[in-house]
Amino acid sequence: MDLCQIGEFGLIDRIRKRFPPSKRSLLVGIGDDSAVLRPKKDMDILLTTDLLVEDIHFDLKYTTFRELGYKALAVNISDIAAMGGIPRYLVVSLAIPGGLDIKDIDELYKGIGILAKRFGINLAGGDTSASKKGIFISITLLGDVEPGIVIARSGASVGDSIIVTGNLGDSSAGLEVLKKRENAGRGYKYLKKRHLMPIPRVDEGRLLATNKLATSMIDISDGLLSDLSHILDESGVGAELFLDKIPISAPLRRYAARVGASPLRFALSGGEDYELLLTASKASTQKVVCSPLLTKTGVSVIGRITKHKGIKWAGDYKIEEDFLKGYDHFKKG
Ligand code: ADP
Ligand code: MG
Repeated sequence: MDLCQIGEFGLIDRIRKRFPPSKRSLLVGIGDDSAVLRPKKDMDILLTTDLLVEDIHFDLKYTTFRELGYKALAVNISDIAAMGGIPRYLVVSLAIPGGLDIKDIDELYKGIGILAKRFGINLAGGDTSASKKGIFISITLLGDVEPGIVIARSGASVGDSIIVTGNLGDSSAGLEVLKKRENAGRGYKYLKKRHLMPIPRVDEGRLLATNKLATSMIDISDGLLSDLSHILDESGVGAELFLDKIPISAPLRRYAARVGASPLRFALSGGEDYELLLTASKASTQKVVCSPLLTKTGVSVIGRITKHKGIKWAGDYKIEEDFLKGYDHFKKG
């Protein structure tokens, strides 16, 4: 069915039926001029938003609508996770070209629904517009966190360990595979999935925050070097990396060997892994690496915070200039 047949209000009705408010704290959801929330007492509110633009952030040649909806929410949840918070309510703004099949929008909301259900997040509303060219999807997510435990980027101090969850570089390798439209090869499915449907590390972030185990934290969206620099800049410190400790999956190792690149190229500079990058004092580091939850997700100590500014590593691994700064939106080339 064509979107024009049901119109904007028909579409909103469809979405509303799919997402009945499930929390008593969402007093008014879709269907009024504004949503009414009754958040918990004594909680700090977290607010984050992300805009995804067709052919800038995603390509429908190799992304399904379900994956698109999933990822649009995942990247926002990851931002709440990186502060140590709990994701609670989302609003979705959509601009859609006329003539799109309603099935595609259903799929998009199915993708959103997967993560909303998994993390108990309520859809509180949104906005819908036509677009002359391309799809735009913007999600805004509200979360909360107990006062005083939020983990900012600015708390790293000299001597702290630098720690990451999971594996690094899978997502950017997965994107390369998707762009080449390759299907054969072991591990490609894993790499592609890591790019299209990343799992935001909410439970891990909560564990770190509620036990006050991290001095600073960020989620890896632009690449390890780029996101680590944000922590270093905000904290006024430098870092030494242990390159041999950077967690690299077996599929990434295989893929890198096949294309004749070092897996470190992906792990240091590739974006969109949505793993957590944190710093922890010596005393807390032990607790972090021994935590059963973090061990299950994967947790690696990959360096330490130093007084000397910048990022250094031992050994002679040289990274191409282009890959040094992670992904910068308005940078040419
Ligand atoms: P208004 O004109 O007051 O902005 P709208 O007609 O845009 O109202 O929206 C009506 C209701 O539907 C609101 O509750 C809004 O939050 C919700 N809504 C609109 N578009 C979407 C969407 N794409 N996804 C979810 N909810 C939506
Ligand atoms: Mg509106």
